[in-house]
Amino acid sequence: MKRRHLLQAAAIGAATAALPTPAKALGKTAIVVGSGFGGAVAAYRLGQAGIPTIVLERGRRWDVDASGTTFCTIANPDWRCAWFEEHPPLGLDVSKTIERRAGLIAKHRGEGINVLSGTGVGGGSLVIGMFMPQPRRTEWNMVYPAEISYDLMDTVYWPRARQNLGVSTLPPDIEAAAQYKGARAWREYLAEFRKTPVPVPFAVDWDAVRRELGGTATACHTIGEGPFGSNSGAKNSVDRNYLRWATATGNVTIHPLHEVTEIREVSGLFEVRCKQINEYGDVLSTRTFVADYLFMAAGTVYTNSLLVTARARGWLPRLRAEVGKGFGNNGDFLIARLNLRKDVGFAQGGPGNLRFFDEANPYAPAEMAWEAAPVPLWAGRTTAHLILSITPERGEIRYDSATGTGKVYWPYGVMETKADKAGRDLATRLWWQTEGRYGYLFNGLPDYDRNTGHGLGSANTWHPLGGMIMGRATDFGGQSLDYPNLYCIDGSLLPGSACLANPSLTITANAERCMDLFLTA
Ligand SMILES: Cc1cc2nc3c(=O)[nH]c(=O)nc-3n(C[C@H](O)[C@H](O)[C@H](O)COP(=O)(O)OP(=O)(O)OC[C@H]3O[C@@H](n4cnc5c(N)ncnc54)[C@H](O)[C@@H]3O)c2cc1C
Repeated sequence: MKRRHLLQAAAIGAATAALPTPAKALGKTAIVVGSGFGGAVAAYRLGQAGIPTIVLERGRRWDVDASGTTFCTIANPDWRCAWFEEHPPLGLDVSKTIERRAGLIAKHRGEGINVLSGTGVGGGSLVIGMFMPQPRRTEWNMVYPAEISYDLMDTVYWPRARQNLGVSTLPPDIEAAAQYKGARAWREYLAEFRKTPVPVPFAVDWDAVRRELGGTATACHTIGEGPFGSNSGAKNSVDRNYLRWATATGNVTIHPLHEVTEIREVSGLFEVRCKQINEYGDVLSTRTFVADYLFMAAGTVYTNSLLVTARARGWLPRLRAEVGKGFGNNGDFLIARLNLRKDVGFAQGGPGNLRFFDEANPYAPAEMAWEAAPVPLWAGRTTAHLILSITPERGEIRYDSATGTGKVYWPYGVMETKADKAGRDLATRLWWQTEGRYGYLFNGLPDYDRNTGHGLGSANTWHPLGGMIMGRATDFGGQSLDYPNLYCIDGSLLPGSACLANPSLTITANAERCMDLFLTA
């Protein structure tokens, strides 16, 4: 057996090792709604502790095989990229008509903002750019209460999440490859902008990327693809780690294509109703599951949507007014830089390499990273970047009686938020320092126009957070303050911001922290 396979086998052995069932959970059962980062951690830890657990996931399974054709691409999108939509949710060709089927990315149309999220066994981990930075202490202490200690996260939970998700920075030999011109150009731009480059950690199997470069795996991350899934298998999505380990405990059953529609408490138990669908959306059956513990992990929008609906419909009437409040977009501000002077290549190798902190921003603390994209030859010299800031603005997820579900309300127009202003300010200074002041007034101009249809500016967020915020709607272990044994375990627990970081590492780490509290309390 090769050393890598031995290590993997050892890791799975250690991962599936049974733990004693806590006394309070003896003979009890659990349901987990959703199988993204939070749901996967919950499923695995519950299974490990010997608690019979059902995972209900509305999306389908996406198993990567040697054919390298599991997913469609941004360059050639089809139904596989979108959850029952007629057009791709992102990319260059957002007007292409596609079949409405159970594809990967759900687009929630909120009032004032749209929210994109991954759908499938593995949730957002199937679609993410795999950016896994850890928040810094300064910003953490600005946003998070002392009960969620930076030291504990820093010494126990972020390292544990990094280890389980296989997180590391872009290796130099890969950045040196011909396809990584964009990465090297971004390094040069940062030097010209006089910013300290900070390497971004990614949940990526770099050996699979090397196989892409060597031509023995389907090219994906080496040509700027990835948001529609990783055909080379380079993405360490949670179906390949946490969920696999959860199933291996023998205590966890995952039901794909099961969309939860109602949750209620009946005599101290939780009753969860769902529709079992096929890939075309036909309802095959309506099923009801009952358990002692309920773990909500449907992602921020859908966890809140199910809960505010249950409150409005009288199924969970005691849920407090705080539920659904404090929704934040993590300060997301997406820009493109057009007609750059430097050769950034097309179909850029990624997922990224460096970010920097914008200490000089007059509006809000901010950071910026380059995100590789499958830029076509005709649109050459273009790069995409996500700017994040810590912004005070918050929206809400409310019950919408017209649709019978929850809806995001974001009461801010264009350039009304500090996040928008911080993003515009940073993008403009970057352009001036690296192009404009040399007289290249038409090179590298930033585009953040919400109306392009490409989700620029703050038209969309990829990082919805909040609504079930710890210390306000739940305790600091994610348990509802109104319904004991009802837990939230996903992005909805975070207070609208992951502190200048893409949130998945922190969602995973916080879920680990909450599950430790649940299992040891
Ligand atoms: C294109 C894109 C790129 C991104 N890139 C990054 C990145 O590089 N780094 C990063 O940190 N973050 C990134 N994100 C954000 C990241 O995906 C989310 O922060 C993260 O996945 C949230 O984890 P979660 O556990 O809260 O829920 P999710 O991962 O969203 O999982 C929720 C699951 O619940 C399921 N579900 C929803 N409703 C129901 C229902 N009614 N019944 C049953 N199941 C249901 C969903 O199908 C989904 O599988 C990206 C997001 C997008 C859309």
